[in-house]
Amino acid sequence: MAHERIPVTGGCLCGAVRYEVSEPPTAGSYCHCAMCRKQSGSLSGAAMEFSWAAFRFTKGELKYYQSSAGAKRGFCGNCGSRMAFVSEGDPKVWVSVGSLDHPEDWPMTKGASWGRSQHIYVGSKVVWYAIGDGLPQQATE
Ligand SMILES: [Zn+2]
Ligand SMILES: [Zn+2]
Repeated sequence: MAHERIPVTGGCLCGAVRYEVSEPPTAGSYCHCAMCRKQSGSLSGAAMEFSWAAFRFTKGELKYYQSSAGAKRGFCGNCGSRMAFVSEGDPKVWVSVGSLDHPEDWPMTKGASWGRSQHIYVGSKVVWYAIGDGLPQQATE
C-alpha cells in the first residue's frame, strides 16, 4: 500500500547529497536509451518527474555532466550516485527513482493514481530484456 509521503525525500548512497520535494511526482519513466544505460550502469534509467520549484537540496549539491546540448546529468561527486536529469529551461527535473528514500510510495504501475509512467526509447532497449509490466512503450521520447 502506497503512503505518498510529502515531502518526498531522497539522497545518494554516501549521504553527502540529500534533497526533498514538497510536491508529488508528476510522471515516471524508464528510459532505455544508450546514454541512460551507460550513466546508470543498469538496463534502463528509472526516473520520476518533479517540479524544480518544489525541489530543494537539504545537504550538499550535485556535480553535473553535460551529456548533450541542453541536457545535463547530476550525480554525487563523492559516491557517484546518479540522481537528476536536467534539461535547459525545463521547469521540471527528472530524479532517479533509486535515490528516493521511499520509492514504494510512488508505484510506476499501470493506472497508478499519482501519475502516468511509461517506457521510452524502447527502440534502443537491450534486446534480451523483456518488459512485462504493461506500461505504454514509446520507440523514442
Ligand atoms: Zn554520495
Ligand atoms: Zn535516456
